[in-house]
Amino acid sequence: MSLNQNEQALLDSVKDGLYIAGAWEPSSSGATIEVNDPSSGDVIKVIADGTVEDSIRALDAAVAVQDDWAATAPRERSNILRRAFDLLQERKEEFALLMTLEMGKPIAEARGEVAYGGEFLRWFSEEAVRISGQYGSNPEGTGNMLVSQMPVGPCYFVTPWNFPLAMATRKIAPALAAGCTVVIKPAGLTPLTTIFFAQLLEDAGLPAGVVNVITTSKSGAMSNALLSDPRLRKLSFTGSTPVGVKLLEQAAQGVLRTSMELGGNAPFIVFEDADMDRAVEGVMAAKFRNIGQACTAANRIIVHESVADEFAARVTEKVNAMKIGRGTEEGVSIGPLVDDAAVEGSARLVADAIDTGAELLTGGSAIEGPGSYFQPTVLDKLSPQAAILREEIFGPVLGIIRFSSEEEAVQIANNTEYGLVSYVFTENIHRGHRMIEQLQTGMMGLNVGVVSNAAAPFGGVKQSGLGREGGAEGIHEFLSTKYTLLPR
Ligand code: NAP
Ligand code: MG
Repeated sequence: MSLNQNEQALLDSVKDGLYIAGAWEPSSSGATIEVNDPSSGDVIKVIADGTVEDSIRALDAAVAVQDDWAATAPRERSNILRRAFDLLQERKEEFALLMTLEMGKPIAEARGEVAYGGEFLRWFSEEAVRISGQYGSNPEGTGNMLVSQMPVGPCYFVTPWNFPLAMATRKIAPALAAGCTVVIKPAGLTPLTTIFFAQLLEDAGLPAGVVNVITTSKSGAMSNALLSDPRLRKLSFTGSTPVGVKLLEQAAQGVLRTSMELGGNAPFIVFEDADMDRAVEGVMAAKFRNIGQACTAANRIIVHESVADEFAARVTEKVNAMKIGRGTEEGVSIGPLVDDAAVEGSARLVADAIDTGAELLTGGSAIEGPGSYFQPTVLDKLSPQAAILREEIFGPVLGIIRFSSEEEAVQIANNTEYGLVSYVFTENIHRGHRMIEQLQTGMMGLNVGVVSNAAAPFGGVKQSGLGREGGAEGIHEFLSTKYTLLPR
């Protein structure tokens, strides 16, 4: 499907260069990267393929203005973030369409991401003016102890393709609020939204060099160079656990502060006393939002055997009613997956589930191109051997495993190295409280299928990560505590 005039005009308004020290420039090697539309496979934009040298120049720029930025009045930093929030509201249709074009998500969900991603700008514009410390006598009465908060310093951000705007604002907004400068490297599959957001920051009055954007096809080499530069003070990464582990190893060499938002394998437990309407609605959101490509996606649907037939039938009916198509078409809820490798991943997990004894209730196949489409799929009666129970699916595949006791449900839910989010459906408040205590995840939805909010601390335990983004916690990822003793 070719681009319409409106889409082409939007893409033409997006810069194609690296953003370093407030200037847009080509790669020093002249190399370029093609960005494509996963609904057609067509190239929609060609942008700069930055080199390692370009990334060092971006860090030079961030380092050069770090002290000045840290010294700006908190109110000034707050005002810039607030202006960025306001500009994003004015440009929300452009941002939504751009995300749908480069990543494939349905336009209604892209609008939802603009709303969610924007809230980090508003939230941290409010937090910027509330950074405070402590002052008080030591226990001995011989001196006063002053505790203050200082910006960590220049930061390097690496973000994934699945939420191109929100994963950028969730890091950039608290960093700016705290007084840190930034080099950000968006995912190679979806660089345009971050570029367009840098244009917005420029329009909001952000001084040159405070945020620098580097796009590259050589993310490993670039990250390695930046992480071994002694001027860098912090790494914040969102992406898969294996890449996160590699970056943590490199960050350890420089003893960098790190925030890591890694993979998930969310359990979604439906107890026999659940409100079935809520549970069905919850699983549709938790599983199929972003075409299943979310770190918070329900990955293992753990349903009590006495309600599993009804639950499976109702979910299958809803899935059969979902409209598949290009994300720009109104009413579509299943757009293309991000690329053909993602389609192959879903196909492999479905085949393995069926081979190990699962029943296929609907879907199950890739859809012939153009575009990277996979049918929304429901599998029931997964065997404990199914790979789908251990791996992140990252596609529109819903697999049900049945249980008979609360103990067994908890055991299945915790049987993973991941610990990002869990979802529990029960009308029994005591059971709900037991689940809060027993499930090993950083976040939980109790009778709800979507938990993300800029005002909440987002993050995981176990191999799902380190640190929290958003909430009162978010800004502390970018502050370091300084203690001073003043003798009496
Ligand atoms: P990914 O392959 O780990 O990529 C994430 C980022 O890391 C991209 O910018 C990528 O750039 C870069 N990267 C890849 N290999 C690298 C290397 N060797 N060295 C340095 N950088 C490297 O993950 P993804 O497939 O984009 O995203 C999906 C994953 O993100 C899932 O595991 C999902 O659960 C996780 N996620 C987590 C959260 C959370 O908050 N916990 C939120 C969203 C997504 P290139 O692609 O350009 O190489
Ligand atoms: Mg793309």
